[in-house]
Amino acid sequence: MAKYTPMMKQYINIKKENQDAFLFFRLGDFYEMFFDDALKAAKELEITLTQRDGGDEKIPMCGVPYHSAERYIKTLIEKGYKVAICEQVEDPKTAKGVVKREVVQVITPGTIMENSMLNDEENNFISSVTPVGQDFVISYVDLSTGESFVSLIKQEFKDVISELYNRPVREIVVPSEFDENAKEELAHYLNATISIEENDQIPTDYQYLVEDLTDEPLIKGFGRVFQYIYRSQKRFLLHLQKVEYIELAQYMKLDLYSKRNLELMESIRDKSKKGTLLSVLDRTATAMGARKLKKWMDRPLLSKSIIEQRHQQVEALIEHFFEREELKEALKEMYDIERLAGRISYGNVNARDLLQLKRSLNTLPKVQQILSQIEETTIQNLLPELKPYEEIYQLLEKGIAEEPPISITEGGIIKDGYHDQLDQYREASRNGKTWVANLEAEERKRTGIKSLKVGYNKVFGYYIEVTKANLANVDLSRYERKQTLTNAERYITPELKEKERLILEANDKSVALEYDLFIDIRDQMKEYIPSLQLLADRISQIDVLLSFANISEENNYVRPQMVENHLVNIEDARHPVVEKVMEDEFVPNSFYLDEDTNILLITGPNMAGKSTYMRQLGLIVIMSQIGCFVPAKSAQLPVFDQIFTRIGAADDLVSGQSTFMVEMLEAEHAVRNASKHSLVLFDEIGRGTSTYDGMALAQSIVEYIHDHIGAKTLFSTHYHELTSLEESLKQLKNVHVEVDEHNGEVVFLHRIKEGKADKSYGVHVAKLANLPDDIIVRANYLLDTYEATSAIREQSATDEQLTLFEANEQPPVQTNLEVIDQLQDVNLLNMTPMDAMNFLYELKKKL
Ligand code: ADP
Repeated sequence: MAKYTPMMKQYINIKKENQDAFLFFRLGDFYEMFFDDALKAAKELEITLTQRDGGDEKIPMCGVPYHSAERYIKTLIEKGYKVAICEQVEDPKTAKGVVKREVVQVITPGTIMENSMLNDEENNFISSVTPVGQDFVISYVDLSTGESFVSLIKQEFKDVISELYNRPVREIVVPSEFDENAKEELAHYLNATISIEENDQIPTDYQYLVEDLTDEPLIKGFGRVFQYIYRSQKRFLLHLQKVEYIELAQYMKLDLYSKRNLELMESIRDKSKKGTLLSVLDRTATAMGARKLKKWMDRPLLSKSIIEQRHQQVEALIEHFFEREELKEALKEMYDIERLAGRISYGNVNARDLLQLKRSLNTLPKVQQILSQIEETTIQNLLPELKPYEEIYQLLEKGIAEEPPISITEGGIIKDGYHDQLDQYREASRNGKTWVANLEAEERKRTGIKSLKVGYNKVFGYYIEVTKANLANVDLSRYERKQTLTNAERYITPELKEKERLILEANDKSVALEYDLFIDIRDQMKEYIPSLQLLADRISQIDVLLSFANISEENNYVRPQMVENHLVNIEDARHPVVEKVMEDEFVPNSFYLDEDTNILLITGPNMAGKSTYMRQLGLIVIMSQIGCFVPAKSAQLPVFDQIFTRIGAADDLVSGQSTFMVEMLEAEHAVRNASKHSLVLFDEIGRGTSTYDGMALAQSIVEYIHDHIGAKTLFSTHYHELTSLEESLKQLKNVHVEVDEHNGEVVFLHRIKEGKADKSYGVHVAKLANLPDDIIVRANYLLDTYEATSAIREQSATDEQLTLFEANEQPPVQTNLEVIDQLQDVNLLNMTPMDAMNFLYELKKKL
């Protein structure tokens, strides 16, 4: 290393400790990057690559100005990179040799706190995954809100992905010995950055975070993600809330496939919110509410009583139209209390943030008053936490200025009257300024120069300006020349300089004091963080319930009745998303699966509406179990413990796996994990392989579900042969989608009817899609030929069976004929019973 300059040596040493991040190395007004970092950053950020003399060689370098660094950091973070911020930690003026530098923070995708980089309506989680024997502990933390969770996942790695999917997790911390394939899968499915952390110990100061956990592996699981955050943030993490243990058994299990296939929060096509259940349900007024809704959607409930409690709350809100309107207006005035609390403790809160908090607190009494008018216990129960927190409000009201700047180091953030000393400084400054303001008029009078001006600039301070034409009237015994301009001279007087000193001193002192006072207010606020977090939780709940009430009323949803038995009875159900985007009328359909009917085998042509019908049930079940009303005329539903789906195109899942393989994986996952209380939605299983293979698999899967699982199942198929299963499988019922056919023209009615469909209409769909007539005519011809051939084949198959039967059992045809002849000839009336017996005996011998 001898060949490098001392500064480059310093750089190389610091970079060694921060291999996996871009090192933003502070040099004066710039953050510079060198070597590979520079090459890569120049490309990613589209900035100019230069060189720097670093000793013997030229070193690649690029840089960004420090005041606009946030924008560049954001770009890198969004691309999944990390950025280590390295600052000068001593004053360059007094430093001996190279200025001391240190990394003060590592910004990573999972640990961003900057407002501009966070999405208001989404959590930003960083998670750890730790294998424990056969199982996995997952822990995830949102640094911006302070929430921390931990869960135990039994055995299946797939469930780890399902659990973290949609959360959304930006970064995942694993131990170094973590399986490489598993790492790749995590990164791929969750689109997250993978980081390594070995340490899983929790420092003594933070033990209280895991007070409620008893299980050592759970504590360590959290320890790992905590250590990583602690190491990268390099500061106290006071706002982290106690870790909450999520017992997964308390929530409906939704695997990755169902989350995707049902398009709960992301459309399959472009991963946007458009066309998702979320887009229909989200009418929340606050960012906290929007995040809460996603949490609820991700974890539908299993407790019948809590589900019913939410339904009850929604119903009460629906019944109170005016209160609902008022409540919505009030909530709109609420800011993101949860993230504000996060910033208070993290230390990056500014006066504008505190003002937002004050305004939110100010709205609380209104919210409380509106809710108290709704006479419903489940609503009243939400009230106790909604106190206005008078002390905090008063502190902010007295202390924080009404229109503060963003910066907290330039003054203007503390109100007059809050602090005596500050008031005195301000008074001094104001007096000085008034004196200066009066000076102009006085001097004009005294000198008779009408154009005389008093001004101020940063370099020379206050001055008196006289144009060249009037210089003769200047009394140089009083004025001291300071600066010469083309047309004028600038002067100062001893009194003016004295006033200036007083003003500047008062300004400096008051700005410094304001900063101290602000930090003091912020520190006082820290004590209230848990209360604010609780408050945020309540407000966000109310926001989501209100959103449910509003959309339920607007879209004519109905309160589902939760039943104890195994009955699904929904009258005129609709698909909540399709009905919104369709131009034509959506055709409602009912579901009736009594205790003895578990499987609906759905047949009907392509495009008839089979998968819409199936998804509809999945979505209705989820809506009901998150506490919302459902799109139907009436609904009776049990609580489902899990939903499994195999619907639609899923071949984008993992590169290298065929559609059929994905299909089989999803089916495997479902049949292994489903229980009697699950909902299984299988659309066209077996489609991805040859007809006989597919049909055989489809049939055996249906039989397996029927015999061994007993889950409520919707199974659509284009194998009409499967409809005969109704005869052998007691709990299976055929239904079909009705189609109208006139003179070869097919009209889809999208109506579900009992019984099986009589044929497939693939060619008609092709016609609808406007394929050329030639193709359609030819296809119809071929279809007729195939159908004819297959009829002949079926016939010959029966013949063959008969021949086989003959060959094996060998009943001699000749003998049979003889027996028949004898039977025809015999006169029964002439026989005694004994004769008849003997006759039968003889006949039997011949067979
Ligand atoms: P399949 O699964 O039978 O091929 P889909 O469920 O994909 O058919 O439905 C095809 C199209 O028919 C959908 O895109 C939708 O526009 C329309 N559709 C389906 N169900 C209904 C319905 N109940 N009412 C009106 N239109 C429907």
